[in-house]
Amino acid sequence: MNAPPPLDPRLPSPLDEVADERFARRGVRLLLKRDDLIHPALPGNKWRKLAPNLAAAAGRPVLTFGGAYSNHLRAVAAAGRLFGFPTTGVVRGDELAGRPLNPSLARCAADGMRLLFVDRATYRAKDDPEVLASLLDRAPEGSTVVPEGGSNALAVRGCAELGRELRGRADVVAVACGTGGTLAGLAAGLGPGQRALGIPVLRGGFLGGGIRALQTSAYGGPVGDWSLDERFHGGGYARTSPALHAFAEDFGARHGLAVERLYVAKMLHGLTTLTEEGAFPPGTTLAAVITGTPGPGDPGGDGGPGDGGNPGGPAVAG
Ligand SMILES: *Cc1c(COP(=O)(O)O)cnc(C)c1O
Repeated sequence: MNAPPPLDPRLPSPLDEVADERFARRGVRLLLKRDDLIHPALPGNKWRKLAPNLAAAAGRPVLTFGGAYSNHLRAVAAAGRLFGFPTTGVVRGDELAGRPLNPSLARCAADGMRLLFVDRATYRAKDDPEVLASLLDRAPEGSTVVPEGGSNALAVRGCAELGRELRGRADVVAVACGTGGTLAGLAAGLGPGQRALGIPVLRGGFLGGGIRALQTSAYGGPVGDWSLDERFHGGGYARTSPALHAFAEDFGARHGLAVERLYVAKMLHGLTTLTEEGAFPPGTTLAAVITGTPGPGDPGGDGGPGDGGNPGGPAVAG
């Protein structure tokens, strides 16, 4: 096999102060941590989480998991194309198999990913050794498994670099959470006196335990100062509303970026609401992590207009 092409990530990612009167009115400074600019095909936290996992896979085929609109699946498929290794995506929902691919899965397929559609019960049981073995039977020989959302100990340690890049630069760092792997690493990398604030985009209130488990797998126990605010999921994963779209549109127009709707818009909306509620004392510097870009077919994405990001049903993170 030829040497893989370099990923050429833009690291550290830019940290830009923006002028926004909703924050300024409260004496709060707002910085945007532009992880969305790290790499065009592997943006944001997906680059931070995948890079160490792909190094560990050492060019072997990769099998991973995701929902029908998974940013993680797209990132793995893109990495497979860039590095030249085979990828298999296990997709939640066997009813999708008989339909035309949505823009996100079409991108995965165009990048060469083999898609395996499985029913929800099988998807839930994917960590069961027998279920996993039967999925691996349908993937290229010698495939390495990367978990759903790419979140494991390697990913958490990769995301700690995000925290280190922000040392001394902000008092509170806000990030959207799916699996919580990014928050787990971010909190571990921040310096003394800084705290991480996670905004879960899934409903359920189960995320805290998952984050503690991820930190334990990476570091042997809980690390850093972090908390979650569970109020801003807007109904659950991939649920969006006209109000959220309007907020995202306005924020993007004010500050010159395309706001991803499933994660980034909910985090920015939560942070704006908290600031307006007076949650941060005057003099606070906030950093909002822009963890990704709109997907193909999403508003602001490269697949044209339309809300490809809202499948309208319960789904999974990543
Ligand atoms: C995957 C993703 C997240 C969630 O990251 P976790 O580590 O699973 O919490 C947040 N934002 C964007 C844009 C993502 O694609």
